[in-house]
Amino acid sequence: MTDFLPFTRPSIDEATIAAVADVLRSGWITSGPKVQAFEAALSEYCGGRTVRAFSSGTATLEVALRLAGVGAHDDRPGGVHRDTVITTPLTWVATANVILEVGATPVFVDIDPATRNIDLDKLESAIRADTKAIIPVDLAGLPVDRNRLYAIAERHGLRVIEDAAQSLGASWNGQFIGTTGDFVSFSFHANKNLTTGEGGALVLPADVDPALCERLRLQGVKRFPDGGMDVDVLGGKSNLTDIAAAIGLGQLRHLAEFTERRRHLARRYFERLAPAMGALGLELPPADFENSNWHMFQPLLPEVTDRGRFVAAMKAYGIGVGVHYPALHLFSLYRALGFREGDFPEAERVGRRTVTLPLFPAMSEADVDRVCAAIEQTLPLTT
Ligand SMILES: *Cc1c(COP(=O)(O)O)cnc(C)c1O
Repeated sequence: MTDFLPFTRPSIDEATIAAVADVLRSGWITSGPKVQAFEAALSEYCGGRTVRAFSSGTATLEVALRLAGVGAHDDRPGGVHRDTVITTPLTWVATANVILEVGATPVFVDIDPATRNIDLDKLESAIRADTKAIIPVDLAGLPVDRNRLYAIAERHGLRVIEDAAQSLGASWNGQFIGTTGDFVSFSFHANKNLTTGEGGALVLPADVDPALCERLRLQGVKRFPDGGMDVDVLGGKSNLTDIAAAIGLGQLRHLAEFTERRRHLARRYFERLAPAMGALGLELPPADFENSNWHMFQPLLPEVTDRGRFVAAMKAYGIGVGVHYPALHLFSLYRALGFREGDFPEAERVGRRTVTLPLFPAMSEADVDRVCAAIEQTLPLTT
């Protein structure tokens, strides 16, 4: 019996484990010198832009929306006025949840089936008078076209909060995601290309005060040199620990090599699956080996395949298959807001058929071959 192959697994080296042990022995385990060093290293990676670390990617998105002034505004006598924020229905639900969390209204635009990212041809017609921001998502690490996106945002005076949770290490126009643009939000969740266990980071645009970002991160507290303090804004509690930052520093040293390895393994999947694609009825993901960091490898199953049975059959072969993601407007919380089946047919089609195959830097080419052989065995039995 071969070992179980999960769809993802973090690569943590011994030097990182030793660095975490050092933090644990140091007597200072929450936000401190390691967080500062991690922020400095991320800033260097982002071409010198200001970066602040958070306890999750969700928290970074929420704080970015608050910094952009997005939310509900009490315009008495007109009552409460809610900003709208445009995003994609095919993403981790966090992207839309944060819009609701700050009191704004999500407006979804269907995906472009060629990229599975927000359809930029349809974006402009969704912009309304109360639209304040766009949250593009680089699904599976494939960047949204930044040239077209920012041209639209500038034309309409909209803020952009790039949900780059999945695209750290990816690039656009030969520049790493995070080095350009408005707000850029990363996640360091255990499944992401760079992990701190849980964590996130926000790249700040030049017009935003980093001190306000820090106050929104920690109870709105402003400290004075004499030891006193004030609270002038309602902040949350989303600071990163030094334990997590030590992991992040160790991970960042390997980011380029992780990305290269993921691209290599993705190519191997293409080589193995492309010839059998027609016979199997599989639809392969967008083949981009220049920009994408290959956060996930996601073919679409034939419409007739029972995905639940396929996932179970692969598991019987010792292979973990994930589903990322069902179209989120069909979740109960969003249906209660009025969204319905048929609203975003392309996202729904991908959401119904998508599967995430194992892809992580420590995988071997033989592992890819094993996954492909198992697909060839199981797919005909589950349709
Ligand atoms: C992971 C993820 C998030 C949230 O990040 P957390 O660190 O889990 O809070 C947001 N958006 C997308 C697209 C993600 O993949």
